[in-house]
Amino acid sequence: MVTLAVKKNRAGRLIELEQQYGAHNYHPLPVVLERGEGVYVWDVEGKQYFDFLSAYSAVNQGHCHPKIVDALIEQAKKLTLTSRAFYNDSLGEYEEFIATYFGYDKVLPMNTGAEAVETAFKLCRKWAYLVKKIPDNKAKIIACEGNFHGRTTTIVSMSSDPDSYKGYGPYTPGIELIPYNNIEALRKALEDPNVAGFLVEPIQGEAGVVVPDEGYLKAASELCKEKNVLFIADEVQTGISRTGRLLACNHENVRPDILILGKALSGGVYPISAVLADDKIMLCIKPGEHGSTFGGNPIAARVAIAALEVVHDEKLSENAATMGEIFREELHKIKSERIEVIRGKGLLNAIVIKPINGITAWDVCMALKENGLLAKPTHDHIIRFAPPLVITKDQILEAADIIKRAIEGLDK
Ligand code: PLP
Repeated sequence: MVTLAVKKNRAGRLIELEQQYGAHNYHPLPVVLERGEGVYVWDVEGKQYFDFLSAYSAVNQGHCHPKIVDALIEQAKKLTLTSRAFYNDSLGEYEEFIATYFGYDKVLPMNTGAEAVETAFKLCRKWAYLVKKIPDNKAKIIACEGNFHGRTTTIVSMSSDPDSYKGYGPYTPGIELIPYNNIEALRKALEDPNVAGFLVEPIQGEAGVVVPDEGYLKAASELCKEKNVLFIADEVQTGISRTGRLLACNHENVRPDILILGKALSGGVYPISAVLADDKIMLCIKPGEHGSTFGGNPIAARVAIAALEVVHDEKLSENAATMGEIFREELHKIKSERIEVIRGKGLLNAIVIKPINGITAWDVCMALKENGLLAKPTHDHIIRFAPPLVITKDQILEAADIIKRAIEGLDK
């Protein structure tokens, strides 16, 4: 709610503009940002904050990373968009770079995470009919309860969260939901010979950083292999070093048949997503059967190369793993009955808040904001902590201290 006092200042006026002229499909924390650098953002009044959301893990390389921004500016001055009706001098180099980087034969470039998930879904169905020889229109994709794969109609058809799917029917058929982190449920679902793919997040980010048991991903990928079912990993949030390895699947030496990436593929500079697969799958889609006007445009190509170079050159996986350990260790030192659980991997972490005296995760986030750290609740009682992966030891200790002071302050 916007108070009268706030309305009088610039931040209040800007919030009011969004309220009046923007659709009400988000409920932002009342802070208006105008600048970012590394792990910090500044609001319109000049107050500095640690960004512990990183635009839902898009800004892994830190805000306005100079190398990525330079790549954007340089390419924007030369050639921005050709469409795929013609070749351009950036796309092929990018395709070779990213395919080699992640170890796949080919990439299909898109823009947003949801589009990449849709693409993987379609690719899996094509493969099902052309290669697996599932009868027409019978292919089934298994997904997990609690998933978050985006906002399109097909994707919300897979959702078990009423906020995501309610009121948007009729839904896309050919989807079966099973419990997450339950290998027996998967085994049973795979008894159906018409199953084409299993779509899974290696850690469920939006669900509240739900980390499956060790061995789940490995066992799931082996079951899929046994049954000739494609193992499709949605690493839009967990990928690109967030969890302390380049891919979260790397923790269990799992190589997805189809890999979905987005967000940090651009370091938050540009909407870029990608689907990676080997030829026997990717070549099932032929010219004219799928595409995007902006997918793989020259700016995206140059930006993604720069963003992935930063990840490698600045050893962001290693830093995320080390800083994540320190961070969780510090969180465990907080003495408050409000903290029910601390969980996560690398720098994708969350605390589950017990509602005591009516104080919710939102209230905790407001207290964090007052103390100079931005985080956002996911659901009513969970706060995700996902800072840029360039964070240093001093910064992570300072941030953990802010969280400690804010939460302990609520108990006073
Ligand atoms: N998949 C996962 C795992 C995500 O976390 C998200 C976004 O949070 C998406 C897909 C959708 O990405 P986008 O918002 O870019 O469409």
